[in-house]
Amino acid sequence: MSDHATDSWEARAAAHSFYGFTDMPTIHDRGTIVVTHGEGPYVVDTNGRRYLDANSGLWNMVAGFDHPTLIEAAKAQYDRFPGYHAFFGRMSDQTVMLSERLADLAPFDGARVFYTNSGSEANDTLVKMLWFLAGAERNPGRRKILTRWGGYHGVTAVSASMTGKPYNSIFGLPLSGFLHLTCPHYWREGREGESEADFTARLAQELEDTIAREGADTIAAFVAEPVIGAGGVIPPPEGYFQAVEPILRRHGIPLVSDEVICGFGRTGAVWGAETYGFMPDAIISSKALTAGFFPMGAVILGPDLADRLGRAVEEIEEFPHGFTASGHPVGCAVALAAIDLIADGGLLDNVRRQTPRFEAGLAALAEHRNIGEWRGKGLMGALEAVQNKATRTPFASDLSVSERIANTCTDHGLICRPLGQSIVLCPPFTMTDAQMDEMFDKLSTALDTVFAEVA
Ligand code: PMP
Repeated sequence: MSDHATDSWEARAAAHSFYGFTDMPTIHDRGTIVVTHGEGPYVVDTNGRRYLDANSGLWNMVAGFDHPTLIEAAKAQYDRFPGYHAFFGRMSDQTVMLSERLADLAPFDGARVFYTNSGSEANDTLVKMLWFLAGAERNPGRRKILTRWGGYHGVTAVSASMTGKPYNSIFGLPLSGFLHLTCPHYWREGREGESEADFTARLAQELEDTIAREGADTIAAFVAEPVIGAGGVIPPPEGYFQAVEPILRRHGIPLVSDEVICGFGRTGAVWGAETYGFMPDAIISSKALTAGFFPMGAVILGPDLADRLGRAVEEIEEFPHGFTASGHPVGCAVALAAIDLIADGGLLDNVRRQTPRFEAGLAALAEHRNIGEWRGKGLMGALEAVQNKATRTPFASDLSVSERIANTCTDHGLICRPLGQSIVLCPPFTMTDAQMDEMFDKLSTALDTVFAEVA
């Protein structure tokens, strides 16, 4: 035991909490920012400092940090019925209503929904559904999952196996049967003289070859984010989904859209699949689903998988899977309110209205001689730092350029995220013109400062 109250918040955070995905040298150098509350898109720390959070928390707080409608929706549901489950043939009325709403909003008819507490668990649940189907349909070999390098699908043992990041090797992951295809990043992965269309064709051929090598009947699904998010905001190359979708259809392999970041407006439409014109067989959702006001994820199955899973569950008589808080009534009530705000309450409209300003801001900063590329869709974007723009040579990793940019932004009251050599922005959907300008002004200052030090 220690006398907590006499220590600083930084010391207290370091003493008894672990950090996820945190660069420890940075923490030792700079300490922890302990946040107490939010005001619109700003968060405020224990020292009273305000930061414009250009990452919407972790892409999720799309309505800002204090939206009264969402707070009221949670309070009202806590008053009515503060907690329940979705096991043993029972579920809350809010859960039923949210599933109806999601089915209405889904790009396909006949959707059915299963709830989780997070995006990772939603991906895990999807894979367990597919494995359950493999067992029930007497096709036990159909278990492999195809994803891409750079794709992020979560941190549980299964969803981390889907994630295409080298850091997972320390855990001995991926598990067997999780295969990663080339990252669809044309600027970085495209070959000398290869057009974007040729790059797309090469990726489609790789998919075709992988299916031929592994056997179509061993593959349970291809799972992809419409825009890779936590892998560095990587929109697909031209015609990508139009090229892969027919290959998957031909081989009877479900195409699953991991919409944990893209879903509910981030790309300028309700679904990323809508933005890129493809029809998924299932959708993985979380984050903006509750505008970050409640931990919740969902697997939304399209008609074919929903029917097949429905039949399999009838036959086996039970789907032995679920979480204590699956379909939590407060989470569902908040999600209903969040979806109303996004779809009907003007937030999606504001994403569309602010997108040109956002793109223009990114493009202007990409004029810098140490920015190799800007990329983005809707209100998600990234700037890639390079030591040499012509040769696309990255900075030496021990310079920690993107971390230094992000730290300098923090010093100026802007939170943005370093990811590899890029800086990621994904502001709340509520951003005003003035807040957009503030975000780009502060980032511009930080880029000038850091590049002057390292270039
Ligand atoms: N899928 C995608 C596309 C994500 O971006 C994330 C989280 N960043 C996840 C899954 C995992 O979600 P969670 O952190 O809620 O487990």
